[in-house]
Amino acid sequence: MRVDWLSFQREFMTKSSLQCVKCPKESTIAGAEGKNVAYCDGCYGEMVTHKFRSALGKRRVFKDGAAKEALVVSDGSPSSVFLLGQIRDALQLNPHQRLVMQPTMATVVSSTTEGVMARVADDQSIVVHIAAVMRPLDQKLMDKDRDAEKEIRDLAELLSCCKSLTARDEIVRILKERLILRLADELGLSTVLMADTADELARLSLSSLCIGRGGQISEMTAGVEKRKGLPTIVRPLKEVRSKEIAIGNRLFGWEKEVIYVEEDEMTKALGYSIHKATDDFIDNLHSEGFQATVSTVLSTSSKVHPDANPTSSLCNLCLRTFSKELVGMCPPCQSIMDEIPDWSRISHLIQ
Ligand SMILES: [Zn+2]
Ligand SMILES: [Zn+2]
Repeated sequence: MRVDWLSFQREFMTKSSLQCVKCPKESTIAGAEGKNVAYCDGCYGEMVTHKFRSALGKRRVFKDGAAKEALVVSDGSPSSVFLLGQIRDALQLNPHQRLVMQPTMATVVSSTTEGVMARVADDQSIVVHIAAVMRPLDQKLMDKDRDAEKEIRDLAELLSCCKSLTARDEIVRILKERLILRLADELGLSTVLMADTADELARLSLSSLCIGRGGQISEMTAGVEKRKGLPTIVRPLKEVRSKEIAIGNRLFGWEKEVIYVEEDEMTKALGYSIHKATDDFIDNLHSEGFQATVSTVLSTSSKVHPDANPTSSLCNLCLRTFSKELVGMCPPCQSIMDEIPDWSRISHLIQ
């Protein structure tokens, strides 16, 4: 669903003019924090920009001798357009405020619509389809000699044989993450910046909880996620709401960079998965006025930690620890794989 939040907000604001909370100007946009918190355009832009910059600053992501090179992952969504725009701006600030970072931009495509790669290809960044994760581990993801369209058809076939939409959505999520980690590794980058928003992470927490990943949600939604032997994942938009991103993209003129690819897929997919049901659940709570849902879910997730168990092992598929004396895959990954009759094309990922 595409909502023009800025116009919506302006219409709402004309009925109740408040002064901007940061300056003497009349407000134009109501903030996500509550009914009486309103900003003028300029202060709103500063507020959302500050959320991004302080997320990197307070966690000292590129400070203290840490590597300055990072992979920045985009999928053409509003949140990734916002992330790229913020990085571009932060790199141009004066030397005292400038973001000290050397980004490598990569667009990751997961739509299986025919010809999608031709639509999103550009010369500015690396473009990789998640289907490339099916290549044997000794083959490069960046290798252009492969038949991308054939790989995408193979992936579509793998997904269509999933016995439930939940298994399908979950395997797509895992394959995407595996691809991103493999791409960072291939490029020799130890840090990855992802565009996950507060709303997306709250949804991820709830859907993961429902499929038995309760012990993994604090790391999956962490602002900085470090796993042994894997690139560090940084989520600098963790405290930014999707609505703030939509308004920010309008204010900064970045909206035109959004690629609406996944939308065609969504309308095609019939039925219901836990992931979709969770999206609707959170949307409903919001429209009923429970505005604190996202922040409450996220702050709860950050406190859920699995028992520190010396026998815990690393799952071969999702690459996260689980505290059971099992080898191979964690129970939720095992049940997802049980719903995919033929997973020979991704068997190299679980060795
Ligand atoms: Zn103001
Ligand atoms: Zn797993």
